[in-house]
Amino acid sequence: LISRRWRVNPTVIDLGDGVTVGEGNFSIMAGPCSIEGEEQIEKVVAHLVENNVKIMRGGVFKPRSSPYAFRGLGIDGLKTFHRICRENGIKIITEVMQVSQIEEMIDYVDVFQVGARNSQNFNLLDALGEAQKPVLLKRGISGTLEELLQAAEYIFSNGNEKIMLCERGIRGYEKAYRNILDLNAVPVLKEKTHLPVIVDPSHGIGLRDYVASMALASVMAGADGVIFETHYTPEKAFSDGQQTLNFQESERLIKQMRQAYALR
Ligand code: PEP
Ligand code: MN
Repeated sequence: LISRRWRVNPTVIDLGDGVTVGEGNFSIMAGPCSIEGEEQIEKVVAHLVENNVKIMRGGVFKPRSSPYAFRGLGIDGLKTFHRICRENGIKIITEVMQVSQIEEMIDYVDVFQVGARNSQNFNLLDALGEAQKPVLLKRGISGTLEELLQAAEYIFSNGNEKIMLCERGIRGYEKAYRNILDLNAVPVLKEKTHLPVIVDPSHGIGLRDYVASMALASVMAGADGVIFETHYTPEKAFSDGQQTLNFQESERLIKQMRQAYALR
């Protein structure tokens, strides 16, 4: 069902209030790795409003490699996130980690993110298929494109057609950076499926200094959007500070991506 052979025209996902994701425009989604509190949300929202970015990312349920690391503010954090974004016309994308969270989160979310670690959590994918909320589905840590497409098929075949695919880097042997951002995936996925393709250069390379280059390369590779991490003081971020842009870097990148998209 997600194949171009079944549907030729690209799927465009409507998030309401004139915000769409898919062919015909370039979507920028930005925000911190983790939601940390009211003051942080307000600062990021102000930065996004200033730069005309309509979608904010930020995790409240965080999949962390160590159980002792910050695991997110949970549903109370999401409610604050939602209130501030609604007041400012910003849409929310945030990760859902398990089936039981869908119901408590659904009224406060515009796009559910399925993280790399849950890319083949088939029960979660089935449940999101029934939930009828847009989903951003990340590629697995070592996932093939075929596995990503089959994961999307789980959601789609349960009746939810509002799916964006996300390339976020795959695990390799190179230690000079966090993951290998597989930009090959962009044109290949665009040919195989009618679904929008988003790139996450922050997790893809994992180092702040290189995020902008890879974001711009993603634009030229044909991505329908980019999702990246930004924070007013990345050094103090509760998670992923090493790959998070400060607001100055973020603003510069947003402008450059728009210029690059215009040249495409
Ligand atoms: C995130 O977006 O902060 C995240 C945890 O991403 P991934 O699932 O790609 O590691
Ligand atoms: Mn992160």
